[in-house]
Amino acid sequence: MIQAQTLGELLSKPAVPIATSAHRDGAPRPEQTQAPRDRLDRPLRSLRVSLIDMCNLRCNYCMPGEEYAWLPRDDILDVEETGRLVEAFTGLGVEKVRLTGGEPLMRREVRQVVERLAGIPQIRDISLTTNGVLLARHAEGLAEAGLHRLTVSLDTLQADRFRRLTRRDDLHHVLKGIEAAHSAGLENLKINTVVMRGFNDDELADLIEFGTESGAEVRFIEYMDVGGATQWSLDRVVSKQQMLESLRQRFGPIQELSRNGTAPADRYALPDGTVFGVIASTTDPFCRTCDRSRLTADGVWFLCLYAADGLDLRSPLRGGASIDEIKDLIAEKWMQRSDRGAEERAELNSLRGPLYQIEDLRKDPHREMHTRGG
Ligand code: SAM
Ligand code: SF4
Ligand code: SF4
Repeated sequence: MIQAQTLGELLSKPAVPIATSAHRDGAPRPEQTQAPRDRLDRPLRSLRVSLIDMCNLRCNYCMPGEEYAWLPRDDILDVEETGRLVEAFTGLGVEKVRLTGGEPLMRREVRQVVERLAGIPQIRDISLTTNGVLLARHAEGLAEAGLHRLTVSLDTLQADRFRRLTRRDDLHHVLKGIEAAHSAGLENLKINTVVMRGFNDDELADLIEFGTESGAEVRFIEYMDVGGATQWSLDRVVSKQQMLESLRQRFGPIQELSRNGTAPADRYALPDGTVFGVIASTTDPFCRTCDRSRLTADGVWFLCLYAADGLDLRSPLRGGASIDEIKDLIAEKWMQRSDRGAEERAELNSLRGPLYQIEDLRKDPHREMHTRGG
């Protein structure tokens, strides 16, 4: 956790000095900025791009309702618009792009988006997070299109639990999808599991073993109080320490591995060498190194998962702004960023509850996790 004094010092730090020139209206604006840094000195390196807000599952911690007001169809960026906005970000230092949703494989043009992004030279890593339901039919196409890495979200290996959690009977499709991804040669396959007390906290070892059999590294995610998680409570969170203790009891000593840059997961090895990760976003957040931001399918840019508002980039794009002008908007906004949403939530301690209630989410779909992309 950042100490109060240190944070104060960081906040009083001026934004990165950059050359400025005048806007058409006379206000100063950054010139061709490179790798802007925010007020906590964090660069902008990684972008999550949501391709669609719709989903074919209804995970209780993300979409507890059945009916939702979807983003207007005309507002959804087309493939070229997505490509152009991503180019504005890569021009400012973004090198990693993760496609997400909603369920990104429900987007008809998902393959074309991957192909478009694979043609951007500054991008060194394109990944996609999916619930896996439609993966069997997409795996080969995604590999051919140039996808580098794939993460499948899978919270349980038990069909009845899967049905209870997602309100759909699709576990067998997800398992087939993981098999297909492995056969298609998609490397760096990962399985993401949100761990919830009393639901799947007795399946950690089974999931690790399943990961080994399927050629995937499992990452356990602490249950987060994000938009959509209207039934979240602290007592349902299984902390990283509790997960490690339970795995230690089952497998023996666990070795901590060195951290992989600014990646959110802490990685560990079991005595037999099997590697797994834990993302402690709730009890031990990693905001101080956060270089991530999120673009919704309708082109609104959020600088933090917990941010109340985002910056509309669709309107300037469709209004004819050049890529350089959009880069300026992005750089200016990033340099004002001081978000540390998960750390601020953690400071609430026992006062912490769900971020939003259903009625608050209904007021603005951009507050939903399935809209801003996990
Ligand atoms: N539909 C895709 C999927 O499930 O992989 C992509 C979008 S989903 C919003 C992205 C990730 O967010 C998933 O791994 C999901 O488990 C995670 N997620 C959603 N709500 C969460 C919550 N309340 N706590 C922790 N992770 C959550
Ligand atoms: Fe579940 Fe992902 Fe759909 Fe949310 S977006 S309901 S996490 S599958
Ligand atoms: Fe980054 Fe916000 Fe998540 Fe913290 S809460 S890691 S600042 S996106």
